[in-house]
Amino acid sequence: MTLFDSIIFGPVHSRRLGVSLGINLLPTTVKICTFNCIYCECGWTETSDIKKAQFYPASEIRASLEKSLIYLNQQHIAIDSITFAGNGEPTIHPQFTEIIDDTIKLRDTYTPQSKISVLSNSTMLSKDTIVEALKKVNNIMKLDAGSERMFQLINKPKNSITLKEIVENLKKFKGKLIIQSMFVRGEMQGEIIDNTEETEIKAWLSHIQAINPAGVMIYSLDRRPPLAKLEKISEEELQLIADKVRQLNIKVNVY
Ligand code: SF4
Repeated sequence: MTLFDSIIFGPVHSRRLGVSLGINLLPTTVKICTFNCIYCECGWTETSDIKKAQFYPASEIRASLEKSLIYLNQQHIAIDSITFAGNGEPTIHPQFTEIIDDTIKLRDTYTPQSKISVLSNSTMLSKDTIVEALKKVNNIMKLDAGSERMFQLINKPKNSITLKEIVENLKKFKGKLIIQSMFVRGEMQGEIIDNTEETEIKAWLSHIQAINPAGVMIYSLDRRPPLAKLEKISEEELQLIADKVRQLNIKVNVY
C-alpha cells in the first residue's frame, strides 16, 4: 500500500476523471479516515483521530496548487480535473471550506476549463458548511452498501455513523451530486462480504432512488486491496447493476 507523499500529485490519467491533478489534504506520513474500507488503496486506517493530526495549513495548500498550475500552464499541459483525494477523507481537513473557495479562485484564474472534483466518503455531511462547500464543486460521494450490515462490513466506520444517517445526509444535496459505488465480494473473519447479492442491490437501489443523484459511478477493484480475499466484479456483472440504475432514469457509468 502506498501513501501520497506530497500535497499535489500528478497529473495522472484517471479512469473516471480524465487528466487529473490530485490534491492530498491529509498528512503524507499516515492515512487518516473516518472509514476503514476493506478495499482501500492506502491500506488499513491506523488513525481517525482528527484532533491529533498535523494538517497542512490552507495557505500552504493554496501556494502549492498555484505553483503547480503555473508550471502546467508553462508546459501547455491541460487538465480535466483538480481532484481532492489522497491519504484519507479530504473533508475532515479543518479548513476544508476555505480550501475549496481558494481552489475555485485558482481554477478560474489558471485553468477555467477544468472541473474541481472531490472524492468523499460521505461521513462529514452532518456539518452544513461541508455540504455547502461540496455543492460548489463536482462532488463524488461514496455509497457502497444497501444494508447496514454490509455497510459495517465493507466501510468499517471508525465512529458510530450509520448507513441510514449517510443516506439522509446525501438527500441534502437535492440531486446535485454523483454517487460512487464500489462492488466487491469476498470473506473476512468468517463473514461473507458481497454487496452484489440480490437483496443488497435492491436496498442500494432504493437508496439511489431516494437520493436521486445526477449520476452514479460503478466500479470494482483496480489495485490489490488490503484484504487479499477480495474478488473483483466483472464488467458484465457491473453492467447488469448499471442497467437497474438506468431503469430508475438515473445516469450511470461503469469503470
Ligand atoms: S473512505 Fe476512501 S480513504 Fe477512507 S478508507 Fe475508504 S477508500 Fe480509504
